[in-house]
Amino acid sequence: MNEYAVRVAANLRQRYAGEPEYLQSVLTWLEMIDPALEDPRYEKLDLLTRMAEPERMISFLVPWVDDKGIAHTCHGYRVQFNSAIGPYKGGLRFHPSVNPSVVKFLGFEQTYKNALTGLPIGGASGGADFDPRGKSRREIMRFCQSFMTCLYRHIGADTDVPAGDMGVASREIGWLYGQYKRLTGRAESSALTGKGLTYGGSRVRQAAAGFGTVYFLARMLEDQGETLEGKRLIVSGFGNMSWGVCRKATELGAKVVTLSGPDGYIYDPDGVSTPEKYQFMVDMRYSGEDRVSTYAEKFGVEFFPGKRPWEVPGDAVLPCATQNELDVDDAIHIIANDVRYYVEGANMPATAEALKLLRLSPKVLTVGSKAAGCGGVAVSALEMAQNSIRYNWSRSEVDEKLRQIMGSIYDASAAAAREYGLGYDLIAGNDIAAFKKISEAMIAQGL
Ligand code: GLU
Repeated sequence: MNEYAVRVAANLRQRYAGEPEYLQSVLTWLEMIDPALEDPRYEKLDLLTRMAEPERMISFLVPWVDDKGIAHTCHGYRVQFNSAIGPYKGGLRFHPSVNPSVVKFLGFEQTYKNALTGLPIGGASGGADFDPRGKSRREIMRFCQSFMTCLYRHIGADTDVPAGDMGVASREIGWLYGQYKRLTGRAESSALTGKGLTYGGSRVRQAAAGFGTVYFLARMLEDQGETLEGKRLIVSGFGNMSWGVCRKATELGAKVVTLSGPDGYIYDPDGVSTPEKYQFMVDMRYSGEDRVSTYAEKFGVEFFPGKRPWEVPGDAVLPCATQNELDVDDAIHIIANDVRYYVEGANMPATAEALKLLRLSPKVLTVGSKAAGCGGVAVSALEMAQNSIRYNWSRSEVDEKLRQIMGSIYDASAAAAREYGLGYDLIAGNDIAAFKKISEAMIAQGL
């Protein structure tokens, strides 16, 4: 490994010893970009440290009152990770697992996703350790308002543009945007993305994360002389991303046969492929119960309590739930099942060891979420573009732009892998392509 990179890795290990998710993402990245570190300017400008660590980390307390009048205090964060190629941009996550390590890992990954889209956005992330499970609508609205009261002074269309992530969907974005407008007195559309269609949102935005992942897989298949027609997809999660995957996969002739939640997974041999099933996924999400067993009850399919879907055979595996949801045993199942494609929708879904195993297996073609998971933020950037021209593109126009963006990310990742003699290693390829782009912007802007 490059000497300068070794020193940076040692410093990161020491400084962030208590932040495992963040360290995992940043150390994996250093390994991936290692073949592309020949330029002496990287060390001269200490670019690796400046890319690996966030430019700014904001944390704040979020007080709120529940329906019984009892006060609670949550911890809110916004990490403004990198602004080399545009205003900070990234999601907000409301989940009890949110902490400084998780938001930093998300902000780091986001910087690379955003660079790969080819659109002018820097990287950020944020959220709070608020648990929406079992909360009433009014409680969630009050929480969103309090959260925005703390956050609004740090964001803006040309500063930092939040969007949704786990626990934050278009309903929450509406409440956050309403409070932002009240506090600033400005209809500043591009201060948030993922807005509803009636007040500045973009068509396709809600389904974009999942659509993008399927477009990426379609492009990989095309390169192998195959199509999605008749393919069986093994998918985890049942949230926004999985929902988009089910819809686009069905449209392109494939079948999503699994969904999962913290309670286990369901196996639907006919595929999650009808409007009724899509709607049920949305209802499950808003029920606040966070489980998929209800899908099995409703549609009469099998439910496997406490298990993950990676044991099910299929043509492609698409983890779409959360970080580290796939470990070494799961990777062994995937390889033993002769799964040919491993395409990450969620951020860093595999443990470092599981990812190593999948990448080294000659049978599995792998691609990481920085490339395959950036459909959501790509359409967020298109939403900002539409806000600034005060015009809305049609559904098919946005969908086609998304398809093209995902195709060009595939091309850039494959080209970078080829250029550095890495064969078909799209994970290293996408990290190198994004690294080159961000480093050029940082070099141009000086120290
Ligand atoms: N959290 C989303 C993502 O993974 C949304 C980011 C955005 O649209 O800004 O990309």
